[in-house]
Amino acid sequence: MPPRANANPSTSGRVLAGLAKLSLVMRHESWRSAGRRGLTPTQAQILSILDGSPEPIGLKEVSRQMAITMGTASEAIATLVAKGLVRKTQSKSDGRAIVLALTKRGTAEAVTAADWPASLAKASEALPEPERAALLRGLIGMIRTLQEQSAVPTARMCVGCTYFRPNEYPGRPKSHHCLFIDAPIGDSDLRIDCGEMRPVAVELRPRLWSVFVNGQPLDNHGPGARRSPSKSRRTIHVST
Ligand code: SF4
Repeated sequence: MPPRANANPSTSGRVLAGLAKLSLVMRHESWRSAGRRGLTPTQAQILSILDGSPEPIGLKEVSRQMAITMGTASEAIATLVAKGLVRKTQSKSDGRAIVLALTKRGTAEAVTAADWPASLAKASEALPEPERAALLRGLIGMIRTLQEQSAVPTARMCVGCTYFRPNEYPGRPKSHHCLFIDAPIGDSDLRIDCGEMRPVAVELRPRLWSVFVNGQPLDNHGPGARRSPSKSRRTIHVST
């Protein structure tokens, strides 16, 4: 009998099959957990987004971050307003714009909504630390590529942050440096959604990524050059 076409899928195919299995669990658990609280997963995610947003956002930004239509976002927000979890208010910076704010109950719900399903959290914790860090690196790479194809909403990741100094300390467990906290960070500390992230200039993104992947410090003036904490917080200047 001839072998089936997918009998020996490529590594890439197997990675995607693994991600599909995880996504199934995630979807199932999100419905279960949100459903227990009388919310849909979309409504629960909107609460998390509003809670994590450094500044007030409106309907358009919610739909952009969730990668859903304005109609779907509007419907979910209307339900959250009716449930007393979200309120609409006038923007302080633009009096004509309406932004969304969590009520006290909404804030409490958002904290619960941000909890990961216990089964998935346990599976991640069961991985040895180096494997968990390697997985995080791989996921960050995939998210970055998808971001460049505009296939996912922008993520606030270290690898696109002006404060990120990759591989400043080659060979050390914490080989990178975050200029915001002015401290070394390791692969397992890399952030996917950091509130302090400031996007690096578009033309510097490929250089930052290449340094992250290839392991050469950006230049001779970063924190790795002096091997001691700096007195001031500086953003990066990268020679391309
Ligand atoms: S500010 Fe946040 S995103 Fe930027 S390098 Fe530091 S931890 Fe990463």
